Amino acid sequence: MKVIRVSQFGDPDVLRLVDAPVPEPGAGEVRVRLYAVGVNPVETYIRSGNYAAGLPALPYTPGTDGAGIVDAVGSAVPGGGGSALKVGDRVYVAGAVAKRITGTYAEYVACDAGAVFRLPAHVPFEQGAGLGTPGLTACQALFRRARLAPGETALIHGASGGVGSLAVQLAKARGAVVYGTAGSAEGLSMLKELGADRAFDHSQGGYEAEILSATGGRGVDAIIEMLANINLEKDLEMVATRGRIAIVGNRGNLDFNPRLVMLKDADVLGVMLKNMLPGELSANVSALNDAVGNGVRVRIAAEYPLDDAAGAHASIMSGSGKTGKIILRIA
Ligand code: NAP
Repeated sequence: MKVIRVSQFGDPDVLRLVDAPVPEPGAGEVRVRLYAVGVNPVETYIRSGNYAAGLPALPYTPGTDGAGIVDAVGSAVPGGGGSALKVGDRVYVAGAVAKRITGTYAEYVACDAGAVFRLPAHVPFEQGAGLGTPGLTACQALFRRARLAPGETALIHGASGGVGSLAVQLAKARGAVVYGTAGSAEGLSMLKELGADRAFDHSQGGYEAEILSATGGRGVDAIIEMLANINLEKDLEMVATRGRIAIVGNRGNLDFNPRLVMLKDADVLGVMLKNMLPGELSANVSALNDAVGNGVRVRIAAEYPLDDAAGAHASIMSGSGKTGKIILRIA
């Protein structure tokens, strides 16, 4: 099979297309013939060799997200998403929560069946590939950590990317008033199309005051934060007293005064997909399935062929202007 292999950490050009044997599923695993792969920022941090949560042994194949068709089932498969998976099932893979995964930047992946979920017939593989990490992260941040309730106000701070564009739709479907931020005209107009009540430009100074003013000065109940090292202080200005800030993304250190947390009685909460409890995972999968059944869609910004994984990595880390998810296509 064709597969991307990384033999040394470094720039995107270390992502090399090679031929390799098709992986065999072990006990409790399935093998999926992939047709689309979701590219996540974390895969670029790992590829570059800078990732605090740990690096894989070299060589390795990147990727935890993808969608395709189950083509082999190992022994003792307990079933993903509640019922036994079988050959021929259309599925999406959320390998970030798998005990073992061989890497989705490949024509075939072997993966723990507990991280493989059925994909409804009406959802194309390109969209399924964007559900795993972004969808579960958005659900975990909104519903488990920030405890968003119907009627509350949510700010998705960095709403134009893979996680944020799903979070806007999921929060709206939960009955919240939803504000989102983006850094480009295209991103802002996409947020309105996705159903955000208001869209604000995080590349322009002063938007925090506009958001506060939109809440009549009270502040927002829940903030989902994609770039905490830049925004945590602003969040503490915009959050309501007793509000919640869920940190999904962070790319550096921050020197700030914890008094801001105290003044608001604020809850500042971490979100780490790998730490999800089994009950949280099943609640999130079920929330995601319901949302997809009710019209929530992965917004695709760009598609690259598998042999241009390097182009996809360069694109996901290039400046501002996100409009959804970056996907690798496999013929
Ligand atoms: P993405 O598709 O690359 O999107 C990045 C988002 O950040 C875009 O909406 C971008 O907006 C926004 N952004 C850029 N500058 C910003 C600023 N100054 N203030 C607020 N937002 C800003 O990435 P993603 O897949 O959505 O992931 C978002 C972050 O969460 C990444 O850092 C990722 O590593 C992290 N993440 C963490 C977990 C976890 O388990 N903790 C899971 C998934 C993702 P514009 O492009 O419009 O400026």
